[in-house]
Amino acid sequence: MAENSVRDIPAVLPAHIIEVGTVQLERPARNSVGGWPFLDDADDWPECFRGERMALFFQLDIPVDIQHFGGDHLMVFHCRSHNDASDAELADGRLVPRYWDAPQPPYPRPFWRILLQRNVAVPSPEAEPSVRALPLTLSPLVDTPNSRGLGAQAFKVGGTPSWAQDPESYACACGSELVYLCQVPESMEFAVHPGLPEQPYSVGADTYNLFLANEVYLLACPDHCDPAAVWPVNQN
Ligand SMILES: [Zn+2]
Ligand SMILES: [Zn+2]
Repeated sequence: MAENSVRDIPAVLPAHIIEVGTVQLERPARNSVGGWPFLDDADDWPECFRGERMALFFQLDIPVDIQHFGGDHLMVFHCRSHNDASDAELADGRLVPRYWDAPQPPYPRPFWRILLQRNVAVPSPEAEPSVRALPLTLSPLVDTPNSRGLGAQAFKVGGTPSWAQDPESYACACGSELVYLCQVPESMEFAVHPGLPEQPYSVGADTYNLFLANEVYLLACPDHCDPAAVWPVNQN
C-alpha cells in the first residue's frame, strides 16, 4: 500500500526558470533573446522556404542537471513572415522522417528551426537584426506538479509541462519517445527594433511572437538523432 502511494506522487524534475533581462546586449552571449547565434560550423543561419532568414528568438545552454540534454545549446528560430501554429504530421505512429524539413501544410517546409547542438564553437559574426538582443538568466525552479500533474506555467527549461489542453506525446522519426525540454508561455512577446516590418497576426507592432502566441512546449529527441529533432507542441 505504502509503495503505491509513493508511486502516485509525481516526481519533481530539475527545472530552471528563464528570465529576460532589460539591458541590451552589446556582445555575444550564450543565453540570449535575439543576439548572436552560437551555430555549429556546419550550420548556416536557418532560412525559411522563401529564402528569408529566420529570426533568432532565443538561445540558451541547457543546465547540466536536465536529463538527456544537459550541456546542449538550444536555439529557437522562427520566420517573421510566416506565423502559424505547428501541426504534427505522423506516419506509422511517429513524426514523419526528417520532420524538421518535411512539408507543414500548406507550407512546403516548417517555418521554424529549433536546434539542439552539442558542439558549439563560436558566435555568428552577425547579430539577429530584428529581435532585440537581451540577456537571459536561468535560476533553479522547484517545479512541483499540482494535483493534476501539471507544472508551472512559465518560461522554463526542464520540469513538468503545464499543458493548457490534454498532454501530447510524440515518437521521433527515429523511434525514440520525445522528451519535454522547454516551455514558452502563451502570449509571450519578443521586443523588436523599431521600424521593422510587422509580423502578421502578432499583437504588438514592436513585438514578435512564436507560433501565433500559442503556448509552446518543446519536445526533443533524447537520442539526439539530429540537431533539429525537436517538436514544438502548440496549445492555448
Ligand atoms: Zn517564412
Ligand atoms: Zn530522434
